[in-house]
Amino acid sequence: MPSTYNFSAGPSVLPAEVLKQAQAEMLNWQNSGMSVMEMSHRGAEFMSIAAALHQDLRDLMSIPDNYKVLFLQGGATAQFSFIPTNILGNHTKACYINTGAWSEKAIKGAKTYCDVIVSASSESNNYSSIPARSEWVIDEQAAYLHYTPNETIHGIEFSDVPETSLPLVADMSSNILSKSVDVSKFGLIYAGAQKNMGPAGVTIVIVREDLLGRAQTGLPGVFNYQKQADQESMLNTPATYNWYLIGLVLQWLKAQGGVAAIEVINQRKAAALYAAIDQSSLYSNPVAVADRSRMNIPFILADKELDAVFLKEAKQQGFLALKGHRSFGGMRASIYNAMPESGVNALIQFMAEFERTH
Ligand code: PMP
Repeated sequence: MPSTYNFSAGPSVLPAEVLKQAQAEMLNWQNSGMSVMEMSHRGAEFMSIAAALHQDLRDLMSIPDNYKVLFLQGGATAQFSFIPTNILGNHTKACYINTGAWSEKAIKGAKTYCDVIVSASSESNNYSSIPARSEWVIDEQAAYLHYTPNETIHGIEFSDVPETSLPLVADMSSNILSKSVDVSKFGLIYAGAQKNMGPAGVTIVIVREDLLGRAQTGLPGVFNYQKQADQESMLNTPATYNWYLIGLVLQWLKAQGGVAAIEVINQRKAAALYAAIDQSSLYSNPVAVADRSRMNIPFILADKELDAVFLKEAKQQGFLALKGHRSFGGMRASIYNAMPESGVNALIQFMAEFERTH
């Protein structure tokens, strides 16, 4: 058992095996005489790392051939602006579903470039559920429909992919690779790497080819999906070491049995933690049961005075980064792919013991 469990929302825990392999290969990658950090991105060694990275992601997500996969910089936040500037084309409007803090940020980012139609919002109930599909108002003239499949702060997750005739755009930053998704249902998927894929510094964009070639004139090449796709995301020097680390995480995931296998474990971890919260009288989670996230689980203590004590004792016992987001308060346990089931079970035991003694 590790001496600590890291429940950080992101950057977050990485598989111990990956960190050990990176450590072992740090100074001399596979007898190349170089660290991956020191390699030319155009050299044969790094090109082999890049090729494996692309292939492993395609394999793990079963990405169809008519999609390009880009590994960019600037975080998901940069994509809030680069999505409209790349794929609006001649359209002037885009539809957004607002289910929490990250949807709000995506909406704000797009507003500079187009008329944003908020097709549905759960702001009025404090983002504790996903608005019913029957209430969504979709403008068929819009360029795309954007949603956030998992709200990292509010702990809300879509259990299925919305049906729409518009190209569907999804910010999968906090649940990519945690469960099987049918990529062909999407126009564009994007995600910052720092939760389920590796360290911060790389943003993945998976884009259907028919949405390319529509960028606003004047958009710098490094931000232009078509130009980056033409250059295999190497229009300029990529974040080479981060690509390598993501590659190790993807290999680790394959060794676990892939996305379908980790999905089963993720469901079990989340179900156990929610059950513990629901049956306690100290902890509670405000999210509608059907819309609860399997990745980020916020919970409130009935007595706010106990927050600091809880965090202090948790830390002493090796449970790290449980403090809730400042806009939400309370606690949040982020239990991404790399959080072992033993970590969740140990947290549940700690929580029960804390409730008993306080
Ligand atoms: N979207 C979601 C769902 C997120 O959780 C985050 C980061 N926590 C972001 C976007 C922003 O990502 P970045 O900081 O990489 O720009």
